[in-house]
Amino acid sequence: MKGLGCNYEAPTFGARYPDGTCIDGYMWDLDSCDEPGGPLYGGGDEPCPWCNTLSFIEWRGDTASGNAHQRRVARRAMVAKVRAWAEERSSFPPAPRPAPPAPPTPTPRQVRVRLTDEAEEESLDFYRRYGEGNCSCHLSPPCGSCTHPGNPLNQAEDDSAWVMGNEGEES
Ligand SMILES: [Zn+2]
Ligand SMILES: [Zn+2]
Repeated sequence: MKGLGCNYEAPTFGARYPDGTCIDGYMWDLDSCDEPGGPLYGGGDEPCPWCNTLSFIEWRGDTASGNAHQRRVARRAMVAKVRAWAEERSSFPPAPRPAPPAPPTPTPRQVRVRLTDEAEEESLDFYRRYGEGNCSCHLSPPCGSCTHPGNPLNQAEDDSAWVMGNEGEES
């Protein structure tokens, strides 16, 4: 159980005062030592509801029903509830758990903003030579019009002909 353990202290072993403390993710009885501050002899079975919430829920015997998705949703709701309950009764502000990974920030969609300068040149060259396109593949395929890099159809298929930018930022 690495990475567990927090400041959580709360009534745990029947006392009305915080008689339980979290050690490495499990609750230990603060009253189970021979001398104040000495080693604790009792406890270690009950998972800490704050930093070991899932184990705590399992230990308590709360099993969600339904299909896998429903169970996952129920478990998430349960975790939030248990942690709120734990925070409420803790005598210390429990040390924050490592923050969950931030949800991925939506990266703005990359869109084609304009032709690259080079592609622009090719495009101009294409229009100079072939106008709107002057396919002669029926004579000698593939024809110069179709294979010209400035042909809009070719540029439409060529990402490298375009300057990309974030969607909504085209100017
Ligand atoms: Zn803990
Ligand atoms: Zn052609």
